[in-house]
Amino acid sequence: MNKKANAYSVGIVCVGSELLFHTLNTNIHIATRLLEMRGFEVNFNVVVCDKSEEIKKAINFCLENSEIVVVSGGLGPTFDDVTRESVAELTGRNLVFSEEIWREIQERFKERRIVNVPELNKKQAMIIEGGVILSNKSGTAPGIRLEYMGRIIFLLPGPPREFEEMLTNYVLPDIEKNYGIAQNTVCNGFGIAGEPEAVVDEKTKNLRERIISLGGQWTILALPYLIELWLKLPKTKQFLFAEVESSLREIFEDSFLGTNGISIQEALMIMLKERKLVCAFAESCTGGLAGHLITEIPGSSECFNGSFVVYSNRLKKKILKVPKTVLRKFGAVSEEVAIAMAKGARKYGKADISLSITGIAGPSGATEEKPIGLVWMAVAISNHFFETRKFYFSGSRSAIKLRAALAGIDFLRRVIMRNLS
Ligand code: AMP
Ligand code: MG
Repeated sequence: MNKKANAYSVGIVCVGSELLFHTLNTNIHIATRLLEMRGFEVNFNVVVCDKSEEIKKAINFCLENSEIVVVSGGLGPTFDDVTRESVAELTGRNLVFSEEIWREIQERFKERRIVNVPELNKKQAMIIEGGVILSNKSGTAPGIRLEYMGRIIFLLPGPPREFEEMLTNYVLPDIEKNYGIAQNTVCNGFGIAGEPEAVVDEKTKNLRERIISLGGQWTILALPYLIELWLKLPKTKQFLFAEVESSLREIFEDSFLGTNGISIQEALMIMLKERKLVCAFAESCTGGLAGHLITEIPGSSECFNGSFVVYSNRLKKKILKVPKTVLRKFGAVSEEVAIAMAKGARKYGKADISLSITGIAGPSGATEEKPIGLVWMAVAISNHFFETRKFYFSGSRSAIKLRAALAGIDFLRRVIMRNLS
């Protein structure tokens, strides 16, 4: 074992063959954000299939190189969930059946009104000898904390909500207690909406060079319709975050969203809540995605009444009273229809302000003057005041839908910022 692993280093092993095929590994993003915000450094993430031998190799690698090892997944009841058994073998310990955990698992099933608990779930009541059980409030698989060769290992369930809850409730307090909160680095994430990555990079060159010359680290991440700048600074230079924030605000004006890894949706919610405004959407090509993204944020009911998914012209007319003549004259993807949809959403959605999105996501439906990726949006503040915007997005059908939904949410935020202070 390499005794020289950085004192605050964390290695994360994500177990699950699905992660190599189709499931996006979101747990690593959750974990890295939460850990790095507290000054720990995620130095490795190994993704491994559901095979015991490979899981042991992956965990061994992280034990070699990190002080703390977090393992996500493979604690389920089915044949392919073998993390518990693999770690028992690796550490040379027995698996023992816990009556207490079995009772807890049965309770979980009762809460879900399931009377016959499958025998297979008994596997989840097996714990590694010498390990501490971390109870799981949202699922059946408990987590386990182990000490081994001077390292701490946490086994956490894979479902993202359970993983995040248990990381927050057990792992963070535990490692802060053991390794001290006396972090020597601090981290912050700054969001900029709707600007190309290269533009952000170019415009922040001087700021970046200055931060790096002062011992900081600077990472640029390009997400759909959002650029994130993640900065790490020595704790003694923490005051520089305020300077970075005000510089970014000056450089990017309305495009600057905020700090602490804020998302486009969160930025809109803050703006609506501050002004006590309620919004509603009318969505055509995004099929309800903008509404979905907003309702992912807890507390959205305070400022979001709902989204009308009016994909067909028939529903645009019937639900939002878009005039037949306007649809016929300008077509569904037009500024005029976007305005009529926004007016309808505001009126029938009983909202102060509304957003509409209508576009061509492809792969078919394009014409010479209306290419794939053309999206019209409108924001209505009153019956007579609205702003419109035309976008051209590129990429696959789902990429266009996602960009359009995020750009719409961001457009609404900008209109509020400019007009409703
Ligand atoms: P498991 O703990 O292996 O039973 O995982 C249960 C489910 O959680 C999997 O089928 C995935 O859908 C999801 N899951 C597991 N690991 C991850 C991960 N790293 N990121 C996102 N989802 C995950
Ligand atoms: Mg699995």
